[in-house]
Amino acid sequence: MVQKFGGTSVADTERMRAVADHVARTQRHGARPVVVVSAMGKETDDLLRAAREVSASPPGREMDMLITAGERKAMALLCMALNEMGVGADSFTGSQAGFVTDSTHTDAKILDVRPDRIRAAIDAGRVPVVGGAQGVSHDNDVTFLGRGGSDTTAVALAHALGAQVCELYTDVSGVFTSDPRLVPDARKMERISFDELLEMTANGCPKPAMRSVEFARTHGVDLHVRSAFTWELGTLVTTTGDSTEEQDMEQAIVSAVTHDIDEAKVTILGVPDRPGIAASLFRALADAAVNVDMIVQNTSADGYTDISFTVPHGELERAAPVCERMATEVGARRVSTDDGIARVSVVGAGMRSHPGVAATVFETMAANDINIEMISTSAIRISCVVRESQVEASVQALHDAFSLADGPTLVD
Ligand code: ASP
Ligand code: MG
Repeated sequence: MVQKFGGTSVADTERMRAVADHVARTQRHGARPVVVVSAMGKETDDLLRAAREVSASPPGREMDMLITAGERKAMALLCMALNEMGVGADSFTGSQAGFVTDSTHTDAKILDVRPDRIRAAIDAGRVPVVGGAQGVSHDNDVTFLGRGGSDTTAVALAHALGAQVCELYTDVSGVFTSDPRLVPDARKMERISFDELLEMTANGCPKPAMRSVEFARTHGVDLHVRSAFTWELGTLVTTTGDSTEEQDMEQAIVSAVTHDIDEAKVTILGVPDRPGIAASLFRALADAAVNVDMIVQNTSADGYTDISFTVPHGELERAAPVCERMATEVGARRVSTDDGIARVSVVGAGMRSHPGVAATVFETMAANDINIEMISTSAIRISCVVRESQVEASVQALHDAFSLADGPTLVD
């Protein structure tokens, strides 16, 4: 099995020893653990800050050399702690572990995993400890897989080794029906489908990293999200309840309510309603590397329409001038931006076959006097854009409306 430990799990040397102890116990119980570690605590953030202090635009190659040092430090210390407990352990950088990536520095994609040295270490009865979020490019440079990349390392390694399960240890005890910081009666789920967890991570749920969930779903790697503090059983993420197979499995109508405050809204008013306008607007945004989402276009009146969409907070500054320029070019009336919005989403595989979920969502918002500014849906999700100041009220009200604290309401 693969066991991945996040930054808080190995934040200091005392935690390192607790993790080593758990890995040793796993091995004593007959499993053959392969460990993946993140950088200790907030080390990645500290390294990023240091880079900004010396350079306004640090070269990607040097960034990756710097950031991956965090995981390198963690893996060496964990091996020392394991060896101290009598467990033979060897650390491996991403390169040594066989992670071949493209050369997109600070956000590299895995091209191939050839874990020969990891297999050899397992066969020799050792515990391999692999630095998360790192690899090596074809031109032999160190690469970093991006924020949250250690989850991807763990899942990719589990797949390459044919591991039974990939355990993702973190500072919460699993995947919750809502953010427990906002909703005190949020409940830890025993099990969730990949489809649902993917929608959740795409709509504000911070862990596990979305890319790793996608990878796990594609390759059928079962995940177990659990706590490195209490060591209790967490949430299993399996294909059970996914769309294609096992359609007659029981599914929760609504499994979770997520929120994302990291969004801003752009509206272009009075856009001439002709073929090609949306195409040129969104091509220009794409060329400026802006990720757009939740696009809404009104029915046109007198040959004009309004187009609204959301973008990540950090991309608004890039998006706004592009929209101003395009508005002038196509003869639109005006552009307005708004970064005081947030998205609240209700996710559940059972809503595919169960009418009335949207109605309940809208009634709940109405009953709490919350105005809905935009709506978007997928087969298993309903999202509403609301004022950022009303996020907490919205999430709590929806969590109550679907009785999520009590356990799932199932449909056949
Ligand atoms: N330490 C890196 C980060 O915080 C990689 C990871 O933990 O996944 O993004
Ligand atoms: Mg992390």
